[in-house]
Amino acid sequence: MRIGDPNLLAISQRGRCFYCGEVVGAKATVDHFIPQCYGGIDDIANTVLAHRRCNIDKGDRLPTPDEIERLIEIRRHARLPVWPPILALRDAEDGEEWIVVARAVAALRPSQ
Ligand SMILES: [Zn+2]
Repeated sequence: MRIGDPNLLAISQRGRCFYCGEVVGAKATVDHFIPQCYGGIDDIANTVLAHRRCNIDKGDRLPTPDEIERLIEIRRHARLPVWPPILALRDAEDGEEWIVVARAVAALRPSQ
């Protein structure tokens, strides 16, 4: 499996943009579900297929609870992995999301 394989993402999302649900076609971009500025990795476990426009609109925000549930559902059907910090974010209390993500990301890094 290639990292962030767009074909695999396209198949798992039935060729549709993760954010608006419309067909993405050849102009699909790969969005980092947990943004890279939060430590989000460049791996299929943390990426979704989206229109360029929808990707730009999402920007650098963390995914909403609805988006997280939708991703988990899609991944379960496709038997694709979900990056553990996404699951940690799902269980975070209001207002402490970024702290929970930072801790979960740090926990995955090999100790030096
Ligand atoms: Zn879209």
